[in-house]
Amino acid sequence: MLIRGGRLVDVVGDRGGDLRVGRDGRIDRVAPGLDPLDREEVVDAGGCLVVPGGVDAHTHLHLPVGEVRVSDDFRTGTAAAAVGGTTTVIDYVTGPRGADPLEALATWQRWAEPASVDVGLHMTFTGAVDEGTVAACVERGVTSFKLYMAYPGTLQVDDGVILDVLRAAGRHGGLVTVHAENGSAIETLRRRALAEGRTGVFEHSRTRPALLEAEAVGRVGVLAELAGTPVYIVHVSSAPALAAVREARRRGVDMLAETCPQYLELGPELLERADGDNFVCTPPLRDPWHHEELWHGLSDGTVQTVATDHCPFTVADRRAGMRARPQGWADFTEIPGGMPGIETRMALVWEGAVAGRITVEDWVRLCAEAPARTFGLWPQKGSLLPGADADVVVWDPALRQGLDAGELHMRTDHSPYAGRAVSGWPRLVLSRGRVVARAGRYVGEPGWGRYVARSPRQGARG
Ligand SMILES: [Zn+2]
Repeated sequence: MLIRGGRLVDVVGDRGGDLRVGRDGRIDRVAPGLDPLDREEVVDAGGCLVVPGGVDAHTHLHLPVGEVRVSDDFRTGTAAAAVGGTTTVIDYVTGPRGADPLEALATWQRWAEPASVDVGLHMTFTGAVDEGTVAACVERGVTSFKLYMAYPGTLQVDDGVILDVLRAAGRHGGLVTVHAENGSAIETLRRRALAEGRTGVFEHSRTRPALLEAEAVGRVGVLAELAGTPVYIVHVSSAPALAAVREARRRGVDMLAETCPQYLELGPELLERADGDNFVCTPPLRDPWHHEELWHGLSDGTVQTVATDHCPFTVADRRAGMRARPQGWADFTEIPGGMPGIETRMALVWEGAVAGRITVEDWVRLCAEAPARTFGLWPQKGSLLPGADADVVVWDPALRQGLDAGELHMRTDHSPYAGRAVSGWPRLVLSRGRVVARAGRYVGEPGWGRYVARSPRQGARG
């Protein structure tokens, strides 16, 4: 296939040119003025951008949450990802506390078999772990780990475990990603709210203040400094947390940060609507001034990656709550948290480029290149370099797409962006050279996606 006459944007820059996809599913040549070969399919990309397929470094597919389960599995979630221009997802293996991590990994790999685009996996540790397990994960291409500083009793680990895992990961070329919120202090605020009869949805936001997010970012920054390892903060949601990232970096800590479109777009007032439980996510949505600060953080390089934390539920499952009560959740602590987003990420960040908040090159870097580099997929993913996988998006800035649930492919019946439309959507999406989406239609094949073993970080001291 020859993609002709587009505006190519990737690590090399922003320039006109043609791109040839080889028969092996890799990018063969990138140059101006390529002539079609015999019987080669030619795609006219005039007026469009040609960019590397998106890499979503933070998803939760198939995941059981209490008595319910997220509504997208790997089959439906990756199909939706493809339609929106994302051709690699890195999902979090999250077994129940006490489960063997390598068994959980095998379960997730089985669940991921019907994926339509390529899948990498991160490993979540919910307790102390021996170094051999860390090494075994890295050997299997799972080169990043997740630790929670929140959710005591289920996911949260203490500072000692964090320090041990940072050290072990550092020795084996792994990267530790952290959910940074002070879970113990939040637990106290939640207990107090319930004791005072404050049970409504908005209490979710009030009991998870930005200050306690910033505190945790600062604390894990100190632990990473002590361990002499990098650390990656998932879903930074607030200006104080962003300031804590800047402060850690100023001290020389190799701290990387991610945010998600919901933290750039949506405010906590949504929790006060009748359907406010659809907007429960953790960390909670913040006021608009935080959104502005985060856009600055994206443009100045403090935040390197935009992922989604895609974690959708049906309205019925949200109403029922994590205990699946027929009469509905009893208080805000029972609402399953998370939002759909795997399909809309590229378009929502693109809007930032159209508005001049970031550049078009920033858009590609934030959505594809940086997550590929950070998580050991570069240059196979996130680039248009010859030899890279032909995960390619022909992005049409003129294509309009509604964001109501019925106009999207994620398996959920509500949309956080309902009533809105975006200008800018993929005209064509390739996964290793195969067309998987065309102008808002999924044309891929479940099972086409492969598990990708990711490389350890360079310079590990093991
Ligand atoms: Zn998450």
